Amino acid sequence: MTADRPDRSSGDPDDPDSDSNGDFDEDRPGSGLDRDERVELALELLAHLEHDELPLSAVVDRIETVTTDPALTREILDEADKRGVVDRESGRIRTRRGGAFVRFESQVVRREGDFECRRCGAGLSTGHFVRFDAGELGPFGPSCVRKVLGRE
Ligand SMILES: [Zn+2]
Repeated sequence: MTADRPDRSSGDPDDPDSDSNGDFDEDRPGSGLDRDERVELALELLAHLEHDELPLSAVVDRIETVTTDPALTREILDEADKRGVVDRESGRIRTRRGGAFVRFESQVVRREGDFECRRCGAGLSTGHFVRFDAGELGPFGPSCVRKVLGRE
């Protein structure tokens, strides 16, 4: 029963191997997404970014709201490139804006509860969740949800 191989991706030269930015637990209860669902969710998120162009690091920052697994992050970037969601050019990511803007009123839902922001780890009493076809992304605080969507 090895549903998820503990792939350590050893010997990868461009793996920064820095786990200094917090302890995001991607398997926290309630996230409940498998690997394929995470890829789809991240691709939808990338398709909805409201920037024409972003540094790779900023794009990875967004993807890290879906997964903190560097191997999966690379897989997502490869897949986004392959599907034409983004173009990769020497350290920058050019997004293909297809009018896929998130409509805040209908796609961002708020829920009361005891949450932790998935981006910055802050405690929240109101969680903002972005609804994509592939699933829900969140919770986020009010400013992080805008950052994740590229509005600020
Ligand atoms: Zn936050």
